[in-house]
Formats: sequence, structure tokens, C-alpha cells
Amino acid sequence: MKNLWNDSEAANFKGELGLRVYTSRLLGRDKSLVLHGGGNTSVKIRESSLTGEEEDILYVKGSGWDLEFIEEAGFSPVRMAHLLKLARLEALTDPQMVNELVTHMTRASAPAPSVETILHAVLPHKYVDHTHADAVLAITNTANGEARVREIYGNRVVVIPYIMPGFDLAQLCALKFPAESGPDTIGMVLMNHGIFSFGQSAKESYDRMIALVQLAENYLARQRAWSLPLPRDGAAGGPLRMELATLRRRICAVSGFPMVMSCSREARAVGFARRKDARAIAQGPATPDHAIRTKRVPMIGRDVEAYARDYRAYFEQHAPHAKETKTMLDPAPRVVLDPDLGLCALGRTAKDAAIVGELYAHTTEVIERATLLGGYRALEARHIFDVEYWDLEQAKLRKAGSAPVFAGEVALVTGAASGIGRACVEALLARGAAVIGLDVSPAIETLHRRVDFLGVRCDVTEEAKVVAALEAGVRAFGGIDMLILNAGVFGGGTKIAALGSADWRKVMAVNLDANLVFLRECHGLLRLALRSGRVLIVGSKNVPAPGPGAAAYSASKAALNQLARVAALEWGADGIRVNVLHPNAVYDTGIWTDEVLKERAAHYGLTVEQYRTSNVLRTEVTSRDVAELAAEMCGPSFAKTTGAQVPVDGGNERVI
Ligand code: ZN
Repeated sequence: MKNLWNDSEAANFKGELGLRVYTSRLLGRDKSLVLHGGGNTSVKIRESSLTGEEEDILYVKGSGWDLEFIEEAGFSPVRMAHLLKLARLEALTDPQMVNELVTHMTRASAPAPSVETILHAVLPHKYVDHTHADAVLAITNTANGEARVREIYGNRVVVIPYIMPGFDLAQLCALKFPAESGPDTIGMVLMNHGIFSFGQSAKESYDRMIALVQLAENYLARQRAWSLPLPRDGAAGGPLRMELATLRRRICAVSGFPMVMSCSREARAVGFARRKDARAIAQGPATPDHAIRTKRVPMIGRDVEAYARDYRAYFEQHAPHAKETKTMLDPAPRVVLDPDLGLCALGRTAKDAAIVGELYAHTTEVIERATLLGGYRALEARHIFDVEYWDLEQAKLRKAGSAPVFAGEVALVTGAASGIGRACVEALLARGAAVIGLDVSPAIETLHRRVDFLGVRCDVTEEAKVVAALEAGVRAFGGIDMLILNAGVFGGGTKIAALGSADWRKVMAVNLDANLVFLRECHGLLRLALRSGRVLIVGSKNVPAPGPGAAAYSASKAALNQLARVAALEWGADGIRVNVLHPNAVYDTGIWTDEVLKERAAHYGLTVEQYRTSNVLRTEVTSRDVAELAAEMCGPSFAKTTGAQVPVDGGNERVI
């Protein structure tokens, strides 16, 4: 456990709230302390209002902010006096609590305060830090966890038994903390949940957090439960894409909506999935915060139907215990542990799946360490149920819930680094799809630095590279639902009399042959798409209206067009739609260098400007215009259309 405090870094942060921002970020940087919006921090500051009254304000982490990247605006200012009055109430429902917190802030534009706000208020210290440190959870989540915590910390911490986060937890702490804390108390351990530290300065509170977690790590080391050797036999090689896509399809069929599934083949994940006792030890989330995303337990192996049955039984058993009628969440797993596939994580977006994967990777370490201590003990199922079906969390999900049209779906685009392909990537990302972009240019690898994009450098004329790219894409996102075949070369304006065979073959290899490989290799994957597979071919105006000097290009695109039409016929029974776009005069693409543009304009006796808009509508057609239509043709408006050829060319007299 490294203390990341740095005096010169800290000097950049001014004032009490500034330093609160700084040490919150230090906590957020250490993934063994907090993950993805987990944990929360606060500072109590005396301020005078516009009208001159002095009052204490609790600045507490606002919901939707991640400690690692928090700013001053991410802290919600809530009136302390009211929070302390609330803490003395007999009871407070969650909606009441949320209402009270939001209506007692001093800045209207601030985010909703954390659900642990009242708990922060009742602790009498200026700075309060709260994390879900892995090392602490490995100790609290064991059969005799409380005794171990007392042995490690003595009277340095107050121990709070597990209770669901929210008002009841704040109330319990308000009662127990004054009664059980003493002059040596610097923290508080919440069984099966996490740890608090506090202090008079940001540094003191942070230092204490690090020191307390270090004590937990030292204890684990003494018990030979700290270092986890990597398993010796690593992940097996070989293609997994059909197995992964089949599994994803079966899981999505149970959930009822498409999800991204990312597969981690890291040695530790595979090692955990291969443990003979995996089913026995992988019992439940390490801290309640995780339950909403990972669900109660992972699926061990691939029996999706059995998992769904167990999940329904879990719901039936615990639903009456809940305060009001709950609607069952979908019974599909979010984490899969499989000896061959490793750790698969699912989510409505690639980001959600990545978060689930990271949460569970930490959970496996907590479980393995707790197992070395003598046995991992998760929360009782009913407690997990309460968190999983917590109204506040469900409301948050619903708020984020108006899902974009391609949420949970995966698209592959060829020729994705520039022009129409690049614009297609943007149009698909904007509609919520995860996108695999292929291009021969290395620029593809850094085109978008975001978890829902995978850029793979790939020469589409090399079959082995195409197959490897498909494998990488499916391991990242779980399948391929949409295929946009865009990569193409123009091949220069050579007349037939001078057209060399090698030049001809080069154009055919990229524009035609490579697309046969993509169609053939993707067919099985497209068939597994929950909302049916879609193929969109970027053709050319040259198919209906070829031009002199473009023999290889026109012939290759015409052959590709026929290939697409045959695919539409052959794959209709699989529900796969295959449509073709015929763009023309799109000049912001890789093919149209200034040189080619000048040459073609001259060929028609036009200036470049005239040439750009020489269509019926006298309009310029951009890559974005083509990409937006391509994305729409993969969407629900075109659900009943296959084998169609749609021009996107501003109107062409020879085509009309
Ligand atoms: Zn917490």
C-alpha cells in the first residue's frame, strides 16, 4: 500500500475543499482502494452565506463522480445542521432521504449528494474518507472476520456490523461511534463493506486510510494470505470466437436485450475460473456496492438456463422480504467463470462490461485471500438482494436507461481509419454500439481511446490477419452483430488498353476477394446476433453507372454488389439483412487524393468545385452523409429491407 501524497503536487490545490479534491484523487488512483465511482469522501467547512449567516457545510462526493477524476464541482454542499437533525429521526425512507439531501444543498447545480451523506455528517471529524479496500474486505468477509479486525486494529477503529448503506447505517453509526470511539480511534470498519478514516486535515485522514489498509495487508502477509501466486498453466490458445458468441447469444436471449461481453484471459482470471472449488468459493460480491453490477453470484460454466432458474428462485425467496413489490431484474448473469473462456463480463455498454470485469477481477483476489485465511464468507443472500433491488440504485439505472438504438450491440467496420469508414465508426458509436475498426493504417490503433472501440491494424487481403482480427474483436465485445464492409481502393484512372494484370488483381483483392472472406467468416457470428445480423456494403455509383478509366474499380464493385445480392438471398432465412449503399462523389475519403480529384474533374471538363457538386441536387456528399445512412440501414427503420441498393450521391442522371 503506497502513500501517494506529494507535497509539491498538493501545493497546486488551494483551500480546504481543494485539498479534499487532491486526496480524493489519490484514493481514486489506487484501484485496490476504490473502483469505478466506489467510495466517498467529505469535508466540513464553515462558510458565511450571501446574507451573512455563518453555517457549517458538508461537502460530500456527489453521485456520478469518480474519486479519481473528481473536481470541486463534484462535491455537493449540504447544510450540516439539517443533516444532524435528520440523523436523530426515528426513520427515514430512501426517497425522503434523497429529497432532504437535495433540498438542503447550498448550490442548486450541485450533483445529488452520496447516499452515505448522513453517515459522513455524524462523524465528528473535519475530513472523512471511505473506501472499499480489497485487503480489508478479504478480512471482514470471513467467518471470524470481526475477531480478526479487532486483533489487527484494537481500539484504533470502531467496528460496525453489516447493515445496508443508507439511513439505517448512518443511524447505527451515530449511535455506536460516540459510544465506542476513544482517543486512539482513527477509523471505522464496516463488516462486509469497507473502511472509514478521518482527521483534522486532508493529509491526516488520507495518511490514516493508507496506514489502516497497510495494517490489513501486513496481517494478510503474516497469515500467508497476501501474495497470490499466478497459476502455472496459462490460457489455452485456439479460436474461441464461436463459443464466445454462442454463449453471449444464449445469455442475451435470457436477459431479453443485447449486451456486450468482454472476455479476460489473464492468467489470474483463468486460474480462478479453473479452481475446482470455484463454485463453492465464488459466493457473492465483496461489498454491497458491487452487487448492482455483478449480480449476486457469477455463472460457473455455461449452463445459462440453470443460472436463470437459480436466479428466479433467489428472487422468489427474497422478494417477500423486500418492503414493496419488486419487478425482477432479468435473470441473466453478468459474470461468467469458465475454465476455457476465463472471466467474461457483461453489460449494456462496453463500459459497463469493462467495469463489471474489473470489479470481479478484484473480487477474485478478495475471495482467494479470504479463502487462504480459512474461508470466504459473503453477505447473506437476503442482504445482497436488498442492495441489488435497492430503489435508489434502480432509479439510477433507469435514469441512465433510455438506451441508444445500438446499446449492447457490436459492429465491425473495415477501412475504418479514414473517410466513410471512420465516419461509420463515429455514427455507430454515437448510436451506442461497440465498434471494432479494421484498417491497414496503424492510425486505427489510436483512432479512439475509449473502451467501446477496438482498433485493429489489418491488411484485409491477408486471410490469417482477418481471422485474427475477428478473434480479437469477439474476445473484446462478445460477437459481431453488424458488419460494414467499406475498405476499398480506387486503383487509378487507367484505361483497359493499358491496365496491367497485377493492378487489376490488386483492386480485386481488396474490393472483392477480401469481402468474400469477411462474409464467409462472419456468417456464423451474424447468425447469433440477438436482433438479427446486418451487413452493409459500401458499393459505388459505378455499379449502375460505370465510368471510363475505372475498369478494375467498377468491375470489382459490381462483382461485390452481386456477392451482396446472393448473400441477401442465402442468409434471409437466418434473418440477416444485406444491403448496399452506392455513394458517389464523396471527396473527403482516402481514395480521393487531390491528384485523383483533379484528374477526374479534368476528365469531365469541369473545375474541381463544379465536379464536387455535379449532381442533380447540386449538393456535396460527405463521408458523414454516407455513414449516417449506413448506420440507419442497420437500424430498425430498415428492419424489413434486404437486398436493397440505395444511392447516396445527390442524384445522378445516369442512375435515375
Ligand atoms: Zn461504501
